[in-house]
Amino acid sequence: MAKKGFNTTNLHSDRKDNPEHGVLHKPVHPSVAYGYDDARHLAEVFQGKRRGYNYGRQLNPTVTALQNRITQMEEGIATIAFSTGMAAISSTLLSLLKAGDHIVSSAFLFGNTNSFFGTLQRLGIEVTFVDATEARFVENAIQKNTKLVFVETIANPVTQIADLKAIGQLCQIKNLIYCVDNTMTSPCLFLPKSVGASLIVNSLTKYIGGHGNALGGAITDTGLYDWSGFENIYDTYRNEKPELWGITQVKKKGLRDIGASLGPEAAHHLAAGSETLSLRIAKACDNALALATYCQQNPKIKQVYYPGLATHPQHERAGQLFKQYGAIFSIDLAEERDCFDFLNAMDSIISSSNLGDNRTLAIPVAHTIYYEMGPERRASMGISDSMVRFSVGIEEIDDLLADFEKALA
Ligand SMILES: *Cc1c(COP(=O)(O)O)cnc(C)c1O
Repeated sequence: MAKKGFNTTNLHSDRKDNPEHGVLHKPVHPSVAYGYDDARHLAEVFQGKRRGYNYGRQLNPTVTALQNRITQMEEGIATIAFSTGMAAISSTLLSLLKAGDHIVSSAFLFGNTNSFFGTLQRLGIEVTFVDATEARFVENAIQKNTKLVFVETIANPVTQIADLKAIGQLCQIKNLIYCVDNTMTSPCLFLPKSVGASLIVNSLTKYIGGHGNALGGAITDTGLYDWSGFENIYDTYRNEKPELWGITQVKKKGLRDIGASLGPEAAHHLAAGSETLSLRIAKACDNALALATYCQQNPKIKQVYYPGLATHPQHERAGQLFKQYGAIFSIDLAEERDCFDFLNAMDSIISSSNLGDNRTLAIPVAHTIYYEMGPERRASMGISDSMVRFSVGIEEIDDLLADFEKALA
């Protein structure tokens, strides 16, 4: 049978497992525990000899349905969902790495991931931050104890694009875990598996959920990394097929020890939201391109950062890798303009910190999400005091353009 399209597969995924009463949505199952008529079956579930549910921190049917959906979208082999994107990142790295290991990470990172990597450094895991737009900087940073390379697809807020393909080849040659945060692009614009990613992070809070009404995160194993050579896997998790060792350890140690489990109600919101992912993101990307193009021509704006503009340093790479150029762009206002006055003059565009919402949101980044980082690190990341980041939504473009005209007048 021909492979079905992204939307068809996504929309029909809940029905694949014959859900109860033929319902079209996987129901919300709030039960924390599961009863067994035969106590032996309960024991077998614990021992991994029988499929089944035992306790809500590690498994829940509503969450399982969402995990399967993400696995399909990313064309991976397994997914574990968490309560937030940060929970997915922290639980995964804490369960796979140990003191004395080393990570090479892009220096252009989501602020909280940057903060978490600081926590890892305090726990004895070395982290080297490099300019990942060139694979040679990653290569130069690799040490004997390097275990993992971490990059994002489109970095926030300056929109640098890592050399995803070359870094993937490098990780394959050096046998390193290649962890790609796909939040900004989502599996709709880009499949990290196509560049050799081992593990994929998605903050479900953003485009996949899309409605700003539920937090969630996921880690997907693409099946490309050979875990049989990875020394940090506990003996107990070496019983299954080697391709499942990594994700099993993330589930057993990450989810069980840290306990940042996704709740069933949130899983339902995220799954329902994900049904329209491709429609929403296409419209948001069209709007972002139109707004960024408008801003580039306006003298009151000093600089525009958007991969869809021909002037963007990685424009060509973005065109080769991604279906569209994403729905995030940032601007530096001309010197004399105050970013707060500019934002307050907007009408439809909301000053808010989230991204990937249906609504267009804007934030003065140096004063908010990158405030704690301090001026030096901000400067090294190219973040100016007048920078405003836009997460473009699905409103009519004329209404968004009218906001810019008014705010710049
Ligand atoms: C938001 C975000 C995260 C964290 O997701 P939460 O669900 O907010 O914890 C991680 N990576 C990127 C690129 C993000 O934008």
